[in-house]
Amino acid sequence: MTTTNQRNVFEKISKDNVYSKLVEIFGKDYVTDKKVDLYPYSQDMTENKPHMPDFVVIPQNNEQLVELINFCNEFSIPIVPYTTGNNVGGLTIPDYGGIVVDFGKKMNKILHIDDNMMYALLEPGVTFGQLKKHLEEHYPHLRYSFPNAPPYSGVVGNVLLSGMTNLAAKIGSMADSINGLEVITADGNVARIGSCFYGKDKAEDDSWWCRYPMPDLLGLFVNFQGMTGLVTKCAVQLWPKEPIEKPQLVVFFGLTDLAPFLREVGRADIVNDVAAFSVEVAKMEVGIPEPVRYPEEPPYTAVVPMSAKTENQMNAKLEILNDIIEKLNNAGTNIHVIDYKEFAKLFNLKALNIFNLPSQILSLHEYSGLTWFGAYAPSHKFEELIEKTDELYRKHGVPPFNYLKIMKGGHYGIFRPIFRFKKFKDQDKIVKLLEEIADVCIDLGCIPYKTPSWITAKLREKINPGWIALFEKVKHCMDPNNIFNPGRWNT
Ligand SMILES: Cc1cc2nc3c(=O)[nH]c(=O)nc-3n(C[C@H](O)[C@H](O)[C@H](O)COP(=O)(O)OP(=O)(O)OC[C@H]3O[C@@H](n4cnc5c(N)ncnc54)[C@H](O)[C@@H]3O)c2cc1C
Repeated sequence: MTTTNQRNVFEKISKDNVYSKLVEIFGKDYVTDKKVDLYPYSQDMTENKPHMPDFVVIPQNNEQLVELINFCNEFSIPIVPYTTGNNVGGLTIPDYGGIVVDFGKKMNKILHIDDNMMYALLEPGVTFGQLKKHLEEHYPHLRYSFPNAPPYSGVVGNVLLSGMTNLAAKIGSMADSINGLEVITADGNVARIGSCFYGKDKAEDDSWWCRYPMPDLLGLFVNFQGMTGLVTKCAVQLWPKEPIEKPQLVVFFGLTDLAPFLREVGRADIVNDVAAFSVEVAKMEVGIPEPVRYPEEPPYTAVVPMSAKTENQMNAKLEILNDIIEKLNNAGTNIHVIDYKEFAKLFNLKALNIFNLPSQILSLHEYSGLTWFGAYAPSHKFEELIEKTDELYRKHGVPPFNYLKIMKGGHYGIFRPIFRFKKFKDQDKIVKLLEEIADVCIDLGCIPYKTPSWITAKLREKINPGWIALFEKVKHCMDPNNIFNPGRWNT
């Protein structure tokens, strides 16, 4: 295993000399070592232990980053890439100090939208809100695929961490939608990966259309949590915006009724997404404080965005949806479907917010703490996951906040227990529950994403040793001095 010893960042060079060098590279206005500036980068909403960085720098171009990497390699100084720090996994907390590189402030341009091959070429700091506004203003016939994350969080951070979004039932993990990357590696090399690899010094804007069929080096950067290099450009796929939209609300009266629904609907190729959650989450999303479920209420509900090119196509999709529900109910489930917009008119128009992604779900931030066990999940285990986590929530007296999805035509699922908590009041209780839920879910085969290092430590006990050896080899080869985001995956 790569060493995890606490390191003395300034063993080989004094802090003053590091500061002078950073000012030389980035300019005085774009470097800080002041505690008041560093503090926000030392923590996030989660339970992960805070740690202060020594410096924050704001880069503007590749030349500066190449110089930084060469310097940090020479003196073994950690570099923590950061775009907006909204990963909900403690992944940008500088566990070993060093330099946080904040891409969000200056390297945040939408460089190109390719209308023909439907992709956007982005700098790492572009946010979901920024991309949405740009598309609506200039390319209203195209859409991106958005998570339930706030509009100020980053698109590139999300795809690099295999995010899951409101087209998940169609396209699956957001990592699959990356067409190409530009990255700076530990040796200061600037590499372009994907169809953009032609051209010595630069690629044409219209050349970022695919990542195949050459050897797929992109995997060296996906889910590595900034441990293998700095991404400076990323091309992500866009999709045609379909004119007819008829979202549905599905209600499940049996505890595990949604499991067969997710599997059947996923493979039917009729929905963009199924965002299924326990009714407590649904109540939270419409702003009910401290939501609880009353005994006669359904335990789960799902919002199902559906879109089509014509009314006829939409009607055909709805017919298939209703057939699936009828078949399942005949076999013993108790599932009901309602036109979501009609429901929202009756209930509260605020309920439509969930389709206006990336919308800010303020109630998720109601407390000082937010964390989750977010996992890719084997969909045939959904029933067991729901039942076993339900028992644990009950045991700890915490209302169940589960969120499930079906991905990529039914090939796999998402299972995500969510926890809002008061950091200085009930963190210990929540962390205990989170740990127990993590153990149960990992035992059932779930693979957590955006994984904090205390969970990767658990994973390491179960992972095939051959995988770990290969992972260590790749990390060492890509980052021999362990300067890139050290501590992630216990490196
Ligand atoms: C309330 C809330 C709800 C959310 N809901 C969802 C959801 O439904 N679905 C979903 O998928 N996500 C969700 N998220 C997570 C969020 O979408 C993404 O994790 C986030 O967008 C990542 O982007 P970021 O800018 O915050 O990245 P950061 O947190 O800044 O960085 C993420 C990781 O990428 C690395 N990194 C950053 N920049 C670079 C770079 N230039 N080169 C190399 N590595 C880099 C960092 O070191 C870190 O490891 C939610 C987040 C919040 C706060």
